[in-house]
Amino acid sequence: MPKPPLSTTLIHHPYRPPDGFVAPQPGVFKASTVIFPNVAALHARDWKQRSGYTYGLHGTPTTFLLEERIATLEGGLQTLLLPSGLAAITLVDAALLAAGDEVLIPDNAYGPCRELARQELQRWGIGHRLYDPSDPGALAAMIGPATRLLWLEAPGSITMEFPDLPALVRAARAHGVTTVLDNTWGAGVAFDPFDLDSGGEGGLGVDISAHALTKFPSGGGDVLMGAVTTRDEALHLRLKATHMRMGFGVGANDVEAVLHALPSLALRYAAQDAAGRTLARWWAEQPQAGAVLHPALPGSPGHDHWARLCTQAAGLFSVLFDERHPPAQVHAFCDALRLFKIGYSWAGPVSLAVPYDLGVIRPGSGRRGTLVRFSMGLEDVHDLQADCEQALAAAFGRG
Ligand SMILES: *Cc1c(COP(=O)(O)O)cnc(C)c1O
Repeated sequence: MPKPPLSTTLIHHPYRPPDGFVAPQPGVFKASTVIFPNVAALHARDWKQRSGYTYGLHGTPTTFLLEERIATLEGGLQTLLLPSGLAAITLVDAALLAAGDEVLIPDNAYGPCRELARQELQRWGIGHRLYDPSDPGALAAMIGPATRLLWLEAPGSITMEFPDLPALVRAARAHGVTTVLDNTWGAGVAFDPFDLDSGGEGGLGVDISAHALTKFPSGGGDVLMGAVTTRDEALHLRLKATHMRMGFGVGANDVEAVLHALPSLALRYAAQDAAGRTLARWWAEQPQAGAVLHPALPGSPGHDHWARLCTQAAGLFSVLFDERHPPAQVHAFCDALRLFKIGYSWAGPVSLAVPYDLGVIRPGSGRRGTLVRFSMGLEDVHDLQADCEQALAAAFGRG
């Protein structure tokens, strides 16, 4: 008997492994093409519900699994995955805004969120204004007939002011404006974005949570991914339609990496929180530090708002070196750090430090100086403190 042609046999091999394989981590499914049993099934598939599969871009068992777990993490009902946190921000703007509309963005928001509005949204005829998140009354007064969307962030990415989130959401609700929170800092751990009023009436929450899974859910500093989570089916379907038409997809290897890291998310968040507070308190005693910005430290902007909503905080804080210290000296301090590496992002294993010119990132604040934003990795906190001590001595001299 001649063997059948090898290529065909290897592609259409009849063996199927037995069902019932169970292991700590789920299996990973990879596909662009999804195979249908017949034409009727091809015609009957509904991409809007997770009832079946149409094409790899629109969902696999692996992406559905991560979507469900992120929805649970955030306290939402539906989640969409995107190739980065910034793509998650882009999806929300692109799905919900049209020419003539306006979006309001906090003046301390994640920089690329503002830049997207200044460039792309502007070209598409969508207006934006920056608001002061510490003043809900002023925000309410800014909302006009063209205002469709309100971005929120808690706390501000670099300057770390924690806003009165419930008050800002109430102001938007009173005017029928959709709210979207960049929940990367809280990560679904520090507070529940869809229930900002726990213990109260209930029902007060943001409409949408956008989350850079790049940070805590990945935890490795090696994956880029974003998520958009909702609790309202109609709003989810609007976002999902745009998500599909714009071709946002995620790679199965990256989804696998996030699924692998999720079980330790709460433990890593708590560990980095503890290290962040220890080091922030130490910095508050250093004479070179003009201010230490960490929402869990009394005296930090918005501390009371943080304390009403949260018991936990991300392992992230900024130290302000005021104008007594020229930027070059602060940069020399950063260069002298050994364990802290210079680089963007946070929530990975390696501690990071980035200097920012306060006059550039918050021109309206009236304050000047150089901020260093520290993010805790997973190193021993005593080693991290010793690293800051030696770099301070190197750049500022002793005492
Ligand atoms: C990192 C980050 C983003 C963007 O995430 P990427 O995956 O890097 O695009 C958005 N918002 C906040 C607050 C972030 O820290």
